Amino acid sequence: MSHFSIEFFPAKTDVGAEKLREVARRLGALGPEFFSVTYGAGGSTRDRTLGTVKDVLALGYDVAPHLSCIGDSKAEIGELLDLYRSLGIRRIVALRGDLPSGMGRGLGELPFAADLVRAIRERHGDHFHIEVAAYPEAHPQSADLATDVKHFVAKAREGADSAITQYFFNADCYFHFVDRVRAAGCDIPVIPGIMPITNFANLVRFSDACGAEIPRWIRKQVAAYGDDSTSILQFGEDVITRLCQQLLDGGAPGLHFYSMNQTEPTQALWQRLGLSAG
Ligand code: FAD
Repeated sequence: MSHFSIEFFPAKTDVGAEKLREVARRLGALGPEFFSVTYGAGGSTRDRTLGTVKDVLALGYDVAPHLSCIGDSKAEIGELLDLYRSLGIRRIVALRGDLPSGMGRGLGELPFAADLVRAIRERHGDHFHIEVAAYPEAHPQSADLATDVKHFVAKAREGADSAITQYFFNADCYFHFVDRVRAAGCDIPVIPGIMPITNFANLVRFSDACGAEIPRWIRKQVAAYGDDSTSILQFGEDVITRLCQQLLDGGAPGLHFYSMNQTEPTQALWQRLGLSAG
């Protein structure tokens, strides 16, 4: 079975929440396995994440809340997990998180995502399917890919069931990462995270922050289009459709779309790839 899922970030306002419900209805019609909802590290979006999780659940879709551990206490995380379980949640995306600047609560009782995975298993046994993060281009804070692979494999050993990657624009880095993980004796599915190319200025800003490389040829082509946003959108859709196809043809077990809370970019990719509903 292939795994196709879609990510949201929590709405900030009531108007945003209403808009997001509409986006969820439309993208829900595509038949994703689940929607995931991001979480601000240190609990900064705790209530908003919970609100969006409840909204999407109320529409009848499976939801995987993201949960980060850096700066949160074990007790706070435990309470949130219990609440999610009481709502019928069966899947969690378990992350370390990055504290927003100015939040000075340190690393907390669970400094790394592997500690969070262990804490979830200790408290709830096998109730939750646990997803963790993967970085085919290496996490920006890691010394090298080998160290990062070692830490990734530790998350699987603590009980992670599958992984979703940071986005990337080069299929080879994904296949190389998966080969390294398999060679280290880890066989959990690694689902590529897919970022549509829409607002290029924002994409450059995100990519600089999270260490995702935008290839020179993509930057050059977008620059050549100047203010022609229609051509940029079309070019972006072509590039990402081809990337997704290469990944699926090469054996990727599914795709996770970073929707940026918009319908059209994910819908267009989904349709061009011929992904089936349900
Ligand atoms: P970890 O797996 O703990 O790794 C973090 C770093 O520490 C890596 O460099 C790793 O090599 C290193 N490391 C791990 N274990 C050890 C150890 N024992 N000793 C020394 N070094 C170690 N962030 C949010 O705040 N909210 C979200 O909702 C969110 N969603 C995300 C979803 C996806 C699919 C992805 C890919 C990322 C997401 N992030 C989110 C970003 C993520 O929290 C950051 O990238 C963070 O810096 C790392 O999180 P992690 O879970 O990979 O951490």
